[in-house]
Amino acid sequence: MEKSAIILSGGMDSTTLLYYLLTKKKANNIIAISFNYGQRHKKELECAKILCQKMKVAHRIIDISSLNKVLVSALTTDSVEVPEGWYDESNMKQTVVPNRNMIMLSIATGVAISNGANTLYYGAHAGDHVIYPDCRPEFYQALAKAIEKCHFEPVYLKAPFINMTKADIVKLGLELNVPYKLTWSCYKGQERPCLKCGTCSERVEAFYKAGVKDPLLTSKEWQVALSIWKERLATKKEES
Ligand SMILES: [Zn+2]
Repeated sequence: MEKSAIILSGGMDSTTLLYYLLTKKKANNIIAISFNYGQRHKKELECAKILCQKMKVAHRIIDISSLNKVLVSALTTDSVEVPEGWYDESNMKQTVVPNRNMIMLSIATGVAISNGANTLYYGAHAGDHVIYPDCRPEFYQALAKAIEKCHFEPVYLKAPFINMTKADIVKLGLELNVPYKLTWSCYKGQERPCLKCGTCSERVEAFYKAGVKDPLLTSKEWQVALSIWKERLATKKEES
């Protein structure tokens, strides 16, 4: 297999994608790229680092945090609170970093080419589409076309999970023995997952639907997270 690059956030999706490439696709020449975009949840970068060390994958962390001065989002701006609730609620739009994926994919493409890679992978999935425009298939397809033409030789952008739900990703990851205990999702940047923010809810739902406890959480945290999630689900059904 030729050399490839992957955008690795340290969360569940991109980590599963890394394991998928290493085991199912037998990719042995891979470089992982992470971004420090000034996110509150720096823990995910630590997770990415640890995962790469564990899997002996070359890793670059690129600091684009200076962009925070000009891009506003609850993920990066201390004055904007991280909202709690479901991803499809309008308040979750506050967590959209404007054009984040195009910025990251564009830089990662340059890094991939500089490292001799001709394929760039990223872990966008079906659950992202509702809220994040730059995770939707239309965006991905349009950008893939541009990236293919950006250099002398074609560069391929691939998002193998684009039509999978997060629960599907967890199911695949469990088959691949992904150490989910070493991944991080919560947006709040606390010592432990808050269990309430959009990404915590989404993570609980994915593990619940996959029929397993989230290994990152203690049994007690898992019970609390499940009850918050189920309560929200009930309220949502009542509303609709
Ligand atoms: Zn959280």
